[in-house]
Amino acid sequence: AVEIQALRKRFGAVVALDGVSLTVRPGEFMALLGPSGSGKTTILMAVAGFERADSGHILIGGRAIDRLPPHRRDIGMVFQRYALFPHMSVAENLAYPLRRRGVASSELARRVEETLSLVKLEGYGGRGIDQLSGGQQQRVAIARALIFRPAVLLMDEPMSALDKKLREHMQMELRLLHRELGATIILVTHDQEEALSMADRVALLHEGRMRQVGTPAELYRNPADAFVAGFIGRNN
Ligand code: ATP
Repeated sequence: AVEIQALRKRFGAVVALDGVSLTVRPGEFMALLGPSGSGKTTILMAVAGFERADSGHILIGGRAIDRLPPHRRDIGMVFQRYALFPHMSVAENLAYPLRRRGVASSELARRVEETLSLVKLEGYGGRGIDQLSGGQQQRVAIARALIFRPAVLLMDEPMSALDKKLREHMQMELRLLHRELGATIILVTHDQEEALSMADRVALLHEGRMRQVGTPAELYRNPADAFVAGFIGRNN
């Protein structure tokens, strides 16, 4: 499980997180939903270890990870703009983190190809990033996040740069991948339709506070307050 306990974070006068707690179960697909500025990305960055909270704790698999650097947290991260190396091939993008951690070159090619097949990109290793469509680039970014087979996959608005049709397609693929991997996924999105259609449970944030956590049906049928009802019911 990923346990987020009473997380607080300020940026100057702005309170980004005002005591947020959330437990994500092993293998669960959790969506962090909320309007712009509600604190979603700040939570993800704290779990990933790129941002330090002012107080509170984060545990993965029962172990406090507050003091661990990102690469020791057993997480993979997919960013909004993919953050791939544009001048490297697909295979080099995936091999890069392996090399940095001293994986033998005899094993590199096999691990890269295995991971590419997870995202249905077998045989694309030699392509340049700029020779790929947006959807394919996103798959490379997901593959790179999965290269160490992390227990937890963190995704920050991974579909927001894609057009509607491709986005719907990728949403379905990500659901399938989640089933196949059995990994815990935390997906940040401001799109309530995306959250409700994809996630096992949805955590709805507003102004740095958790407003409701529940299954899509629970949020839809039993909103905790007017904010939840309004946000879930709105049309994007
Ligand atoms: P969005 O959907 O727009 O990305 P979000 O829900 O992910 O929003 P956060 O990015 O977590 O929200 O931001 C929460 C609050 O903290 C916002 O008011 C934001 O302006 C502020 N904030 C986040 N990061 C920083 C930073 N590095 N410096 C200053 N303020 C920040």
